[in-house]
Amino acid sequence: MAVSNCIFCKIAVGEIPTEAVHASEDFLAFRDIVPQAPVHVVVIPRIHRDTIMDVEDPQLFAGLLAFVQETAVKLGVDAEGFRSVINCRANGGQTISHLHVHLLGGRFLNWPPG
Ligand code: AMP
Ligand code: ZN
Repeated sequence: MAVSNCIFCKIAVGEIPTEAVHASEDFLAFRDIVPQAPVHVVVIPRIHRDTIMDVEDPQLFAGLLAFVQETAVKLGVDAEGFRSVINCRANGGQTISHLHVHLLGGRFLNWPPG
């Protein structure tokens, strides 16, 4: 169910317009508004879960990662590689409390992150 004050729920139902790069019944990928790499996409489940720790059904992870995989192919970053990041809560630097995967690519990404 959509959470009324959640920006990603609003994006999921089209209330806030975005440039969707890949979409399915259950998941959506759209361009990050503050891109950190030539390719920077946010991948969300349409269903609201605050964080990775709030998912009860592991099938959601299966679907989400399969969707990330499809999105990487669609964006053409699969061969050269990319990074998938899920920030969780305060220390993870999560700023939007709707579970999402960052898909970053199009350049070499340093490790470790800051
Ligand atoms: P996090 O810090 O992991 O919670 O990531 C939230 C991400 O959402 C940040 O990279 C933001 O730039 C991005 N973001 C916030 N609002 C929007 C929006 N309206 N459309 C696209 N990306 C957004
Ligand atoms: Zn939400």
